[in-house]
Amino acid sequence: MRVLVISDIHANLNAMEAVLADAGKVDETWCLGDMVGYGPDPNDVIERLRELPNLTCILGNHDVAVLGQMDYAVFNADARKSLLWQQQNVTDSNLVYLDTLSKDKLICGNVTLAHGSPRDPVWEYILNTLSARLNFSAFSTDYCFVGHTHIQCFFQMDMNKDLVTQYLPRQGQVTKLTPRIILNPGSVGQPRDRDSRAAYAIFDPETSSWEPHRVNYDISAVQARIRAAGLPEKHASRLAEGW
Ligand code: ZN
Repeated sequence: MRVLVISDIHANLNAMEAVLADAGKVDETWCLGDMVGYGPDPNDVIERLRELPNLTCILGNHDVAVLGQMDYAVFNADARKSLLWQQQNVTDSNLVYLDTLSKDKLICGNVTLAHGSPRDPVWEYILNTLSARLNFSAFSTDYCFVGHTHIQCFFQMDMNKDLVTQYLPRQGQVTKLTPRIILNPGSVGQPRDRDSRAAYAIFDPETSSWEPHRVNYDISAVQARIRAAGLPEKHASRLAEGW
């Protein structure tokens, strides 16, 4: 069984299409939120997502903000500018769709899905072994999938040694998972791990295997649309930096 795990598409249609093409045929898609924010294509991304069969999708902080359910003051100035643009441009139908999705964590078999972290699903960043450690008690499944940091990695808890270790597996490197682990597929539309390629992962719940992937996409086309829309220049230039 192949589950496509994606997160943080951030209104970047070219990156999303490249990921869907590269992943090929999958049985299910699990999306960990932040479909909107930063990029120029919020409607195209939401509409493409809505077409996917067997989709499980939760909301991220940018989605919740565009729905008018989070104070923009918690975002930095450029992110805020982008969110205001998104709010003015996302169609009513797509807003209604976003509003049907969960702001809380969800459980799929032996995996908990959360945007940020299991103890604070919309907002907390799991960026290091300490924040990972503090979250292992906040979920009871073997694995937890998170997004939000835009960094493709995972955190393994070794119960015998009481040790949490961060791993940065390479593209295509298959890991056979053993409990317990917090895993991040990376960001489709705005990677922040110095690799500008779109990130995703393939999970097989039957064999508990995890395979991170990266795929090239037309970054300059997305940058041109960001600039044409008058969105912050930072959000265009960072795409080429993978930051
Ligand atoms: Zn994000």
